[in-house]
Amino acid sequence: MNSQISLIQSIDALLPQTQCGLCGHRDGCLPYAQAIAGGEDANKCVPGGQSVADALAKLLNRPRLEAEKSVWPIQADGRPQRMKAVIREDECIGCTKCINACPVDAIIGSGKLMHTVLTDLCTGCELCIPPCPVDCIDLVEDIQPLMTEEQRIEEQNDLRRRYYAHIQREEKRRINRKGPVVRAEINTELFAEFSAHSTHVPVIEVVEKPAETIVTIDAQTTIQLAKLRTQIKKLEKQLSVREDARKRAQLEELTQQLQDLQG
Ligand code: SF4
Ligand code: SF4
Ligand code: SF4
Repeated sequence: MNSQISLIQSIDALLPQTQCGLCGHRDGCLPYAQAIAGGEDANKCVPGGQSVADALAKLLNRPRLEAEKSVWPIQADGRPQRMKAVIREDECIGCTKCINACPVDAIIGSGKLMHTVLTDLCTGCELCIPPCPVDCIDLVEDIQPLMTEEQRIEEQNDLRRRYYAHIQREEKRRINRKGPVVRAEINTELFAEFSAHSTHVPVIEVVEKPAETIVTIDAQTTIQLAKLRTQIKKLEKQLSVREDARKRAQLEELTQQLQDLQG
């Protein structure tokens, strides 16, 4: 088991940590690394391009496969052109949907306020673009000089850490989520298992949802509740036309009765 985990970690170390899911693995690089260790072809990482496909073939001692094509042109280092997201800030309505979608927390902003992308952290994964209701996020070419191998490893390690921190935050929010779910739920258990075997990423704890209290309501209570709701509606309607102290007191009493019955 430990040798399988260390093989998956070695594969994961070669993947770009963009967490884009273009390899067909919704939750990003680690699930793809796990699938590769289980025998899946190692040429499906689109942002990694031929360099990553070749590095994986070498690590696994498998025949070289042609990498899945990207829609972007190939850079001098053999990888597809890196892109960055840019928010047209004057059009942003501050809905916050892009924040939840970003796997590496590269977007800042809060409800109803303009949002902005922290360009240095953005990997161009494009995951923030579909959830934006006003389509105000553009992708532009990254014009920074190409990274050295050391810089790339450093960036990958940082992106992995950021993704694990993002997963832990989403896991905690999952229980009490009221906001929109813009990304399918992440398989937190897998990341929790791997985080326990590495000192380089935050440890992820799976949060158990408290057992829901099942409330059974008998037929008589249901009828009573319906009656109360009808009376309340009627009173509210009358009070919206003309204020009346007696009716107001009656409304308060009925509302209290409704709350008591609902538990
Ligand atoms: S960076 Fe590559 S391995 Fe990671 S999620 Fe994207 S396509 Fe998959
Ligand atoms: S800002 Fe958008 S494109 Fe950039 S990393 Fe976050 S989700 Fe991906
Ligand atoms: S999803 Fe679009 S509109 Fe909503 S906060 Fe992000 S950039 Fe602004």
